[in-house]
Amino acid sequence: MKVLLVFAHPEPRSLNGALREVAVRELEAQGHQVRVSDLYADGWKSQVDRDDFPTLEPGARLQVAAASGQAYAAGTLTGDVEAEHEKLLWADALILQFPLWWYTMPAILKGWVDRVFSYGLAYGVGEHSDKRWGDRFGEGVFAGRRAMLIVTTGGWEEHYDARGINGPIDDLLFPINHGILYYPGYDVLPPFVVYRVDRFDDAGFEPVAERLRERMRTLSTIPPIPYRRQNFGDYLIPSMQLRPELGDPGATGFALHLDGAGQAGS
Ligand code: FAD
Repeated sequence: MKVLLVFAHPEPRSLNGALREVAVRELEAQGHQVRVSDLYADGWKSQVDRDDFPTLEPGARLQVAAASGQAYAAGTLTGDVEAEHEKLLWADALILQFPLWWYTMPAILKGWVDRVFSYGLAYGVGEHSDKRWGDRFGEGVFAGRRAMLIVTTGGWEEHYDARGINGPIDDLLFPINHGILYYPGYDVLPPFVVYRVDRFDDAGFEPVAERLRERMRTLSTIPPIPYRRQNFGDYLIPSMQLRPELGDPGATGFALHLDGAGQAGS
């Protein structure tokens, strides 16, 4: 497989940096081709603004989705964004790696998504009618490709379980897994999460590294999280409500959008 790893940590000598090396080495040992986008090292610009659309008339009102769609169609996006598009379209698998900061990804990685997931590529794709609501959630440009997260947390695993104070990790990661990766079509694999890392020592590292190597060995085979597909009957269109007969009666929240008994483990 061809694998793109997008790395969002400011320090190469960090635990995340060490885990990245483990992942890349194991993928290469398995015969995969790997490319890394190292956002801090590359000085990635994290905010979308006018500079993203060099052909926008001076003084014209910036409407980001419209400008993104026009620039993507015309091939006038900036070189850094186009380089990421080339890597994304090259890759059979996408890995986003980051420390959990304030319950989510570091701003630089969110900015990578905001700038790189362009209108016409990752959203605004496909027919909108009473039968379909765009190519998304199970369809889209990246359908048939795989994606997963590698995440480290300061909090303990118990803090992120069903009754933990932080809320379940699968709920916290739902906006990324479902809203960013599944949306443009990726099959999203269960995340690789390392908990309670701030007092990690060398002795703790090797078992985690081995668990990560094992996940890298199964990148092409592990079953994805069974999210429901949008255009195949589970949802009413255009309200996009899950049909009332599906899901547990009275159930609410993210787990409703899983097709099956439960979400794959972390
Ligand atoms: P580092 O700080 O680089 O390393 C962690 C430990 O691993 C160190 O003790 C280091 O010595 C050790 N280590 C062991 N082996 C190695 C090796 N081979 N190489 C390098 N280091 C090694 N946590 C939460 O749970 N929820 C949050 O919402 C949250 N929000 C945060 C917000 C901010 C702004 C910040 C700064 C932290 C937050 N945290 C949160 C904690 C954060 O998730 C952790 O600090 C982070 O995951 C640690 O990863 P790191 O790569 O930076 O680790």
